[in-house]
Amino acid sequence: MRYLIISDIHSNLAAFEAVLADAGPFDKVWCLGDVVGYGPDPNECVERLRDLPHICVVGNHDWAALGKMDTEDFNPDAKRACLWTREQLSPSNLEYLETLPKSLVEEDFTLVHGSPRQPIWEYILNPAIAQANFEHFDTRFCFVGHTHVPVIYRDHPNQAGETMIPSYGSPLALGEDRLIINPGSVGQPRDGDPRASYAILDSDRERSDLTLEYRRIPYPIETTQARMVESGLPVRLIMRLAYGW
Ligand code: ZN
Repeated sequence: MRYLIISDIHSNLAAFEAVLADAGPFDKVWCLGDVVGYGPDPNECVERLRDLPHICVVGNHDWAALGKMDTEDFNPDAKRACLWTREQLSPSNLEYLETLPKSLVEEDFTLVHGSPRQPIWEYILNPAIAQANFEHFDTRFCFVGHTHVPVIYRDHPNQAGETMIPSYGSPLALGEDRLIINPGSVGQPRDGDPRASYAILDSDRERSDLTLEYRRIPYPIETTQARMVESGLPVRLIMRLAYGW
């Protein structure tokens, strides 16, 4: 099986379409949440995802759009975008987001948005936080999103976990170690590179032979920005897409 691993689409349809066009054939999408929030096309992104064979876990922005949590913890721009998103979403798409679980287990992989310890909220920002999370899932690997930064953490019991910065375009053998893997963000990268980030998991191999390929691709950022201007979304959110921050 070839899986398309995506996270944090954030209502950015132009970025999502670019990823789908670049990915080549795949059997299924594994989506790590935050399908909506920030961007201009919440309904279109949910519907595009729903039309694909996929599984998806819920993210904090999906929850916020459902009104399941207080937006007081959001910064003012995120809050404004969240309230706008809530107004836009069709009843059917809200219902779909409502069905999303906080975590899923597929083959050797646990899927969550934030962290296995706190699926909705925790940011795995460094090796120490990653290391503390390895005891909170039972599978060999865990996919996370939420930070919008592509990275892999390797389990090193009794010491700080090791960080691996992915290289793009060449498949990486996942090997025998336990890993926490973040594919980066489709719709709002925050590592200084504005291109959409995603990964392809190829499990058509022996168990010890799984490969993951990170990819980074440009998309028409100005299309998304123009749609955001039309919708009156906050200027800071429009600008940041160009900087990948
Ligand atoms: Zn996000």
